[in-house]
Amino acid sequence: MTTRDDALALDSTDPLAPLRDQFALPAQTIYLDGNSLGVPPAAAAQRAQVVIAAEWGEGLIRSWNNAGWFALPRRLGNKLAPLIGAAADEVVVTDTISVNLFKLLSAGLRLQHERAPQRRVIVSERANFPTDLYIAQGLIEQLDRGYTLRLVDDPAELAQAIDDTAALVMLTHVNYRTGYMHDMAALTQMIQQKGALALWDLAHSAGAVPVDLNQANADYAVGCTYKYLNGGPGSPAFAWVARRHQDRCTQPLSGWWGHRAPFEMQPDYQPGHGIGRFLCGTQPIVSMALVECGLDVFLQTDMAALRRKSLALADLFIEQVQTRCAAYGLNLITPLDHAQRGSQVSFEHPQGYALIQALSARGVIGDYREPHVMRFGFTPLYTRFVDVWDAVAALEDVLATEAWRAPAFAARGSVT
Ligand SMILES: *Cc1c(COP(=O)(O)O)cnc(C)c1O
Repeated sequence: MTTRDDALALDSTDPLAPLRDQFALPAQTIYLDGNSLGVPPAAAAQRAQVVIAAEWGEGLIRSWNNAGWFALPRRLGNKLAPLIGAAADEVVVTDTISVNLFKLLSAGLRLQHERAPQRRVIVSERANFPTDLYIAQGLIEQLDRGYTLRLVDDPAELAQAIDDTAALVMLTHVNYRTGYMHDMAALTQMIQQKGALALWDLAHSAGAVPVDLNQANADYAVGCTYKYLNGGPGSPAFAWVARRHQDRCTQPLSGWWGHRAPFEMQPDYQPGHGIGRFLCGTQPIVSMALVECGLDVFLQTDMAALRRKSLALADLFIEQVQTRCAAYGLNLITPLDHAQRGSQVSFEHPQGYALIQALSARGVIGDYREPHVMRFGFTPLYTRFVDVWDAVAALEDVLATEAWRAPAFAARGSVT
């Protein structure tokens, strides 16, 4: 079994170890929740200061041009593109995943309406992140044209569920609860062979696992920047549309930022060319500017190196929990197979909520998702092997001493 000294030795030879200095981590904290909210890049505070004091404070309205504010959604999209296998001018950073899903689902249904109007079913998984399903439900209700949402309970049922009524298949690449990862290329091929479009949610993939949207020939994708990309709380999401579809489909949130010439102030909407038409309105520039600090760190490494370390961290965590905490009824729900695993590890435990609270009180931060799921995210940019070792030592202690029984650890905030 791996000892603490072994973990320290792994850190001393880890080529990614220096990147940790580029993050402003609080002292005495082991942060295993970068899958929910990333850590601030060290550069973010300074960047915020420049945006507020210089660009906003001094530049004022001139900064839309002079500080490049207006171009920010596209410029950041281009910087993010290599992380998800996208080309230049295929991604915009904008809005939220929920809003971008509405746009892209609408665009996909409309495209199918033109080429195969009998296809009126959106296929997804019951285990998908709720907002994805809620947005599909809301869109279907708005359209009021007999569209339906068909949910499968197991990925193995997808092939059967995608029949000749399926318009679009909306899948989240890495499941938020279990960390299960789909084979994007194989599923996209299967979906398209059956005549449907493939929309991928990369919330737990962008910056977490290698993604190649163009190689997979995907149709649409969304993702967020505040998880593994360390953009900051509520930082804008992104939308990707395969270039072959960009000028062929429109989206219903036809705001002026997506217009061909917004400052001509014409009364009629005319969509811009390319990915720009997937913008809607004025963006939260202060928040968006900080996304760049997170993306800049990725320029110093590559997803293959990050993936190697992410899997090694997670493998160590699983090995340690399964040996040291074997007596306490933790149930691993994340696949052991690397090809089916994202960058998080989840265990079920009936007292999962209180356990996560008790760990947090000891400076080990994971999170909890209903029902009974303890999630631990492994972000190789700033997590050390010794952090993993120490986190499991804390977990073992909380279980052995039953420290989780303290009443304070049962109290629930509105965010778990
Ligand atoms: C985190 C997450 C979201 C968040 O959506 P927002 O609209 O940006 O709040 C959506 N989908 C998935 C799969 C997620 O993991």
